[in-house]
Amino acid sequence: MADKLIPREKGFSEWYVDLVQKAKLADYSDVKGCMVIRPNGFALWESIQRALDKMFKDTGHRNAYFPLLIPLSYLKKEAEHVEGFNPQLALVTVAGGKQLEEPYAIRPTSETIINATFAKWIQSYRDLPLLINQWCNVMRWEMRTRLFLRTTEFLWQEGHTCHETEEEAERETRQMLEIYRTFAEEHMAMPVLAGRKSESERFAGALRTYSIEAMMQDKKALQAGTSHNLGQNFAKAFNTQFLGRDGQQHYVWQTSWGVSTRLIGGLILTHSDDSGLVVPPKLAASHVVIIVIGKGEERARVVERAQALAADLRRVGLGVSVDDDESKSPGFKYFEYELQGVCLRVELGPKDLAKEQCVMVRRDTRVKEFAPLSGAVARAQALLESMQKDLFARAKQFRDEHTFEVNTYDELKARADDGFMLAHWCEKPSCEAKVKEDTSATTRCRPFALEQVPGKCVVCGEPSPGRMVVAKAY
Ligand SMILES: [Zn+2]
Repeated sequence: MADKLIPREKGFSEWYVDLVQKAKLADYSDVKGCMVIRPNGFALWESIQRALDKMFKDTGHRNAYFPLLIPLSYLKKEAEHVEGFNPQLALVTVAGGKQLEEPYAIRPTSETIINATFAKWIQSYRDLPLLINQWCNVMRWEMRTRLFLRTTEFLWQEGHTCHETEEEAERETRQMLEIYRTFAEEHMAMPVLAGRKSESERFAGALRTYSIEAMMQDKKALQAGTSHNLGQNFAKAFNTQFLGRDGQQHYVWQTSWGVSTRLIGGLILTHSDDSGLVVPPKLAASHVVIIVIGKGEERARVVERAQALAADLRRVGLGVSVDDDESKSPGFKYFEYELQGVCLRVELGPKDLAKEQCVMVRRDTRVKEFAPLSGAVARAQALLESMQKDLFARAKQFRDEHTFEVNTYDELKARADDGFMLAHWCEKPSCEAKVKEDTSATTRCRPFALEQVPGKCVVCGEPSPGRMVVAKAY
């Protein structure tokens, strides 16, 4: 029998790292802070890409690609931007055996190099809106890393758009946040709170930053996606102007937005259990595994039937494999497939065949049932559909049960480990910093879904426009 996972109650972080490796999702590498994404993990990223890419294209965006290296002078053009990213920059100073006249930064994000290009592409209002997305890798030198959740190099998408007016840019910023919310909830079955970030958590160089925040099983928050209204900050730094309908030159209004391989960490921390990975069917690459049971002559007949069932299941678009390896016991196989998060296990043996039935076991509930072979495809589809819904409902119930109001500072300090605290905050960075220092909890966002009723800041008692989500976070 293979090694069991470290259970969650023995250490949530240890369980996570153990699962990522035993489920063969990712591995450490000799490059500091960088991970190797294994085929099981990359299949999840491909599913995420496929779904999001369609949503981006359906809203008029097109993919492009910009260089990995950015002239350092570009980053310096937007003062706040370079200040924000400077501590995390990796620089290339030697190339082709020669010292470079100007160092290149390995992109931490691409606003600057993209703006240098946009300035050439855009002449008039007829060139707007310009709606571009890029799928790529970025590098941010991190001191403490954790597979998927925080790595020095990671994969992501970064959307970059230009608009004629501030209103249009704001509409785009919010539209993309809404796409992220829909994707997180409907595909990842991960409930999120969408809202605005505080000033101190704003993207370096943006006017406003919005995020979606999810609650993991240890009640910590995970920022799962961000969307920024950049205003005209980068346009002014790069002179990205257009001839307006009024015959005058104007700076474009811009947005940028991104999600990364961090989502895979969020997926694991939301749904998985002590037996291993649990994947919502909409994102799973492996929906069904059919395990052949039995010996000798009978086995050949079972294999034949299993292959036929697999073909029928593939015909409706499911990812299916048949395991007829005689060298491993069924028990060993159940353990392995649960660890790797296959959504549905089908067991088929000679006795089942005699009754024209099979056994089906859902990964999340592990409930076992008999299904007639004639209706096996429809039943598998129905079980997967229920699994998708149930995973979301369970995660949402968990989040709601651990979201609560706090009305005094003592209460906030006492309950900082209990989940999402809804606290009045006066919007002064000093009060936010005090909370962080005393509890290590941070402001996550001001959720749109929460009715904002004025009150008094839990820290200083000054007027507050409404409640903010405060929580410990990844
Ligand atoms: Zn205050």
